[in-house]
Amino acid sequence: AAKTDGRGCARTFNRSMLLLLEQRENLRRSLRTALERDELYLEYQPLIRPPSLVIGFEALLRWRHPEVGIIRPGVFIPIAEADGLMDEIGRWVIEEACRQALTWPSSLTVAVNLSPAQFLSGSLTDTVAQIIDAVGIRAERLELEITETVLLEKTVDNIDTLNTLNVLGIRISLDDFGTYYSSLSYLKNFPFDTLKIDQYFIADLETDLKSQTIVRSIINLAHGLGISVTAEGVETSGQARWLINENCDCLQGNFLGLPLGAEPTRDFIRRSPRKVLRAMEESNRAL
Ligand code: C2E
Ligand code: MG
Ligand code: MG
Ligand code: MG
Repeated sequence: AAKTDGRGCARTFNRSMLLLLEQRENLRRSLRTALERDELYLEYQPLIRPPSLVIGFEALLRWRHPEVGIIRPGVFIPIAEADGLMDEIGRWVIEEACRQALTWPSSLTVAVNLSPAQFLSGSLTDTVAQIIDAVGIRAERLELEITETVLLEKTVDNIDTLNTLNVLGIRISLDDFGTYYSSLSYLKNFPFDTLKIDQYFIADLETDLKSQTIVRSIINLAHGLGISVTAEGVETSGQARWLINENCDCLQGNFLGLPLGAEPTRDFIRRSPRKVLRAMEESNRAL
């Protein structure tokens, strides 16, 4: 049966596959020049300490493609990874994010996502040290976000890398926690400052008792280990209230602030001088 009706199916399947491959190949080719053509840029999404202190921003990469328009990282980062471009792009992201952070009040942090290729390159700690030195930013203002997928291989080297970054004063977050394997040994063996709960568990927090139990347990577990917790993808006041009530340390999501370009981000900071002032006082006390 597969053969008789399989032909037509196979042809359509192949054609759309081919189209996808062509699109991917086109993107791959134009991605090679995107960096030098200034088509990559960062948006910044606020990180809020409840109830309303802005403590920093997460840098999120975007590609302004001349024909296609704005492309999200989920689409082009896998291509960049496969094409060996992510090391160079990633370096640019760290430097650009640090330079932007220098235009903000000095208490505010900037968080940068690392791709597996960057983390496993072996030169990450040197690169990061060089950049913060060249830009002239305090290491404490930079936070690096990694996902568990990064940690799956080469465990001894990984611990070395994270410890070196830690000694430099750079903060490390475990991103998208709760997806992947969520192996507890990571929490025991790696020096994380922050654990970011994936938005998957935040989305139905108001109605799903299982999500509530999981999020509550993650918060307690992290706090027991001296790790701070950020909730990602907070979209409603109900979610925010629930998380604040459970002592979540930091909230991020469209309810609290959308990702914004460099200039609107400075406006965002300017428009909340009281919040920023309070954040500054708090971080001065913490240092
Ligand atoms: P992530 O690090 O977990 O970043 C959070 C993602 O959730 C962002 O998507 C953000 O725009 C989105 N988000 C934030 N608040 C909400 C909300 O309230 N609701 C919903 N539905 N979504 C929200 P984005 O910008 O598309 O980035 C996707 C992923 O791409 C990031 O996930 C991160 O893993 C990766 N990424 C972004 N920038 C970089 C980068 O510079 N380097 C690397 N290696 N990866 C990056
Ligand atoms: Mg992230
Ligand atoms: Mg995340
Ligand atoms: Mg995510």
